[in-house]
Amino acid sequence: MKKILLKSALVETECDKTSRKDIVIGDGRFLKIADAAAPADADGAEIVDCSHFAVLPAFYNGHTHAAMTLLRGYADDMPLQKWLQEYIWPFEAKLTGDDIDVACRLALLEMIKSGTVFFADMYWHRERTIKVVGEMGIRAAVGVTFAESLMSPEAIEGNFKFLAAHTGESERVRLAVAPHSVYTVGETLLKRCADFARSENFMVHTHLSETKKELEDCERQYGCSPVRLLERAGMLGSNLAAAHCVHLSDDDMKAFVDSGATAVLNPNSNLKLASGIPPIDRLLRAGANVALGTDGDSSNNNLDMHEEMKLAALLAKVQGGAETLPAHDALRMATVNSARAYGLMDAGEIKEGYLADCLLVDLKNERMVPGHNLVSNWVYAADSSCIDSVICNGKFVMRGRHVDGEEEIVREAEACAKRLAY
Ligand SMILES: [Zn+2]
Repeated sequence: MKKILLKSALVETECDKTSRKDIVIGDGRFLKIADAAAPADADGAEIVDCSHFAVLPAFYNGHTHAAMTLLRGYADDMPLQKWLQEYIWPFEAKLTGDDIDVACRLALLEMIKSGTVFFADMYWHRERTIKVVGEMGIRAAVGVTFAESLMSPEAIEGNFKFLAAHTGESERVRLAVAPHSVYTVGETLLKRCADFARSENFMVHTHLSETKKELEDCERQYGCSPVRLLERAGMLGSNLAAAHCVHLSDDDMKAFVDSGATAVLNPNSNLKLASGIPPIDRLLRAGANVALGTDGDSSNNNLDMHEEMKLAALLAKVQGGAETLPAHDALRMATVNSARAYGLMDAGEIKEGYLADCLLVDLKNERMVPGHNLVSNWVYAADSSCIDSVICNGKFVMRGRHVDGEEEIVREAEACAKRLAY
C-alpha cells in the first residue's frame, strides 16, 4: 500500500492548541506525526498539500440500520410503534438481497460524504452489508440480528452458526451479536445471546429503553425495567453497546454504569419519533460511557454524525448548563467513544500507531473562518460540507468531495425505491 504524506496539516496537539504537522500514513496507520517529516519516513509517499486543511478524526457511527436508506421519507410524523408496524415492517418484507446492496451503497455513500468511516449496523441480509462494506472501503461492526417475533427457529439457529464461523469477518469488518430489543426477543433468547457473546468474545448491540411504551410493556410482561431485564439475562457488561437509553431511572442508570456498558445515544431519531430526550447530562454525571449514532435513515432522516454531535452538545447544555459537554467531549463521543464501544481501541484519534482514519477539513470554508478555535468551529459552526476528503485505513475513500461511482449509486437507488414503493 502506497504511503501518504499529509504535508503541513493543522492538527490539534492538545486541548485548544493547534499546530502544523506532517503526517505520514502507511500500512493503514498513522506512522509518524512530526513538525517536519524526515525524508526516510516519507520515502515514496504521495505528498498531499494540506496547508489549507485541518486533519480531524473521522466519525464512528455507533448505531444505525444502513439498508433503511430506501425508506427515507417513506413514513414520517408518527410514533414509533405505528411507524414500525404499519409502514416499515411491511415495506421491508418486500426487500430482496439485491435491493439491500443498492440501499447499503447509498448509505455508505452518505456516510463517507459526511465523514463517517465506521458504522455499527443492525439489519437483515448481513452478507450483503458485509459485501458492500468491502467494496466501499470503510469499516463496520455488522450485527447479526435476532428478532424472535419475526424469525423462524431455524433462522435463529442459522444466526448462531453464522456467528460461530465468524462469517465474512476481515480487517475492516467484524460481527456483533444483535438482539433487536426486549420487545422483539424473549428473556430465554436474550440470555442465550448474552452467554454466546461472552464465551465467543463478541460485542452485543441492542436497542434499549427507547420509548415509554417499551418500559410499560416490559414492566407488565417481566415485572421489571428493560435495563433490569438485560441484567437478569446476563447481558449488561462492558461488551454491550445499547442504543437510545432515553428512559432510565436512577436505579437503571446505576446498574447500567456499574456494568461498564456503553450508551449509544441517537438524539435526532428520538426527537423525530417523539420518544423523548436522552438524559445526556445525567449519564455523564453518573460516569457512563457515552457514544453517538444516527439510527436509520427512516427515522433520522440522514446518517450525518456531525448533526448528531452538535445536537448532543446542545441538548446536554439545556440539561446541565452551558459548560456541560464542551466541544472536545462532544467530538470524542462521535469518534473515539463510539470506536471503543465496538472494540476498536486504537481508533478515533490522530495519534501515531492508531488506525489511519481521518478527515481533511477545508479551512477556507466560510464556516471555519476565523480560526479562533479549531474544535469549536468544527463542532458548533461547521457541517459535513466542510469535509474535502476522507481517509479510511490509510486510503482515500473520498477525495475533493467525490466518491468513486457515486453517480451510479444514486441512479440505482432512485430506480429501486421507485419500484418498491408502488
Ligand atoms: Zn435503531
